Amino acid sequence: MTTINSVDFVKSKIRDVLDFPVKGIVFKDITTVLRDKDGFKEIIKFLKDKFADKNIDYVAGIESRGFIFGSVLAYELGAGFVPLRKPGKLPGETLSQSYELEYGTDTLQIHKDAIEAGKRVVIVDDLLATGGTAGAACKLIYQTGAEVVAAAFVIELQDLKGREKMPEGVETVSMIVY
Ligand code: AMP
Repeated sequence: MTTINSVDFVKSKIRDVLDFPVKGIVFKDITTVLRDKDGFKEIIKFLKDKFADKNIDYVAGIESRGFIFGSVLAYELGAGFVPLRKPGKLPGETLSQSYELEYGTDTLQIHKDAIEAGKRVVIVDDLLATGGTAGAACKLIYQTGAEVVAAAFVIELQDLKGREKMPEGVETVSMIVY
């Protein structure tokens, strides 16, 4: 079980960077947690506890900070790791899902043959804000015919209501809520 203390400990290691990447944004910097061996371990422990008994076949990490947590979680769960990448990065045949940004659109891609239909998948990213990215990640996984069991985040900015963008049936898990 993860205690309140481990949540507070990890929270204490997250650095707020004002006006990054643009004015008005408070960027939640997780590099200051990653460099702390206990902080990184507590995050992985939290995520592993949530999914250890859920028969997860694949962890799908969202580029790029989702790769850091997602790959270690996959290893810990004995699951496969699948990267969800920005366009033009994956060498094989891909599926794509676009989503709205404040200005314009962005796209995530997955290898067409990365996940078999019916498999159980957890999506991982560092942070849930408006939910546009994670919502698109769910749709991308659905294109493969697989099931999205949960979307998991280290940080959730609850005022931005990203949780509401997650499709029905997808559990939203976050370690630290602001
Ligand atoms: P969204 O699609 O709005 O939920 O945004 C989530 C994505 O943007 C994640 O991949 C985050 O890494 C990044 N992101 C959004 N807001 C922040 C923030 N305040 N601090 C750090 N990363 C952020």
